Amino acid sequence: MNINIKNITHKYDVDVLHDISFILEGYKSVAIIGISGSGKSTLLRLMSGIERPTSGDIYIDGQNVLDPLYKKHIGFIFQHHNLFPHLSLEENITLVLEKTRGVDKLTAKETAHKYLSLLHLEDQVYKKPKNVSGGQAQRASIARALSVDPSTIFMDEPTASLDPILTFEVLSAVQELRVLGKNFVFVTHVLSFVRDFADYVVFMHEGNIAEHGTPDILDHPKHQAFKDFMMKVK
Ligand code: ADP
Ligand code: MG
Repeated sequence: MNINIKNITHKYDVDVLHDISFILEGYKSVAIIGISGSGKSTLLRLMSGIERPTSGDIYIDGQNVLDPLYKKHIGFIFQHHNLFPHLSLEENITLVLEKTRGVDKLTAKETAHKYLSLLHLEDQVYKKPKNVSGGQAQRASIARALSVDPSTIFMDEPTASLDPILTFEVLSAVQELRVLGKNFVFVTHVLSFVRDFADYVVFMHEGNIAEHGTPDILDHPKHQAFKDFMMKVK
């Protein structure tokens, strides 16, 4: 994946991202870490094009993320699964494929079953979200995001609402997705997952990228805020 962030500033009532410029080439799985309020979710939303920055531009694989075509090539997983509650896991996927991609019913069903099986949900396809565990529902959201064959998947603390066992279930399922060859950009507090899955780590502090590098930076933090962070989370 090729990430090019050019002079990104983002303001709500106050500035939350301060003129971030960042270029990264050739990594497939990028973790964004940092304390609450450091701007991780904001940066992730801007990179996925679901929110427009106050100023600056972001290009992923050469494409401006605000280009409507870019949206067709990404998936976004939120903290809480956002499945349609009145639809089965299968229908959650077939609806998206039929309505947004014009896929025929039979192909949509086959695709739904393929991705639900990949996330180990083959026995849950006809259940509604409220009748499966939080981890299964989150895995179904991941299956739904994958079903449109995106090139990049963004995940914002996908296990924040789950207990440790379900967190493990979801994160091991995500690790198995490596074989799909997709790009991942994700925010998480689970550092063991960062070590196992990320090939690049970005540490954010007060609206800036304070330190970045391959996962071994976790063992040798240089920036004081990163040192403090690693002391607290270990
Ligand atoms: P993180 O994901 O690292 O916890 P966020 O990107 O969510 O950080 O937030 C960065 C800062 O921006 C925080 O101070 C937060 O309160 C503020 N913020 C985030 N989203 C909004 C919003 N929609 N409206 C106003 N302020 C926001
Ligand atoms: Mg956040």
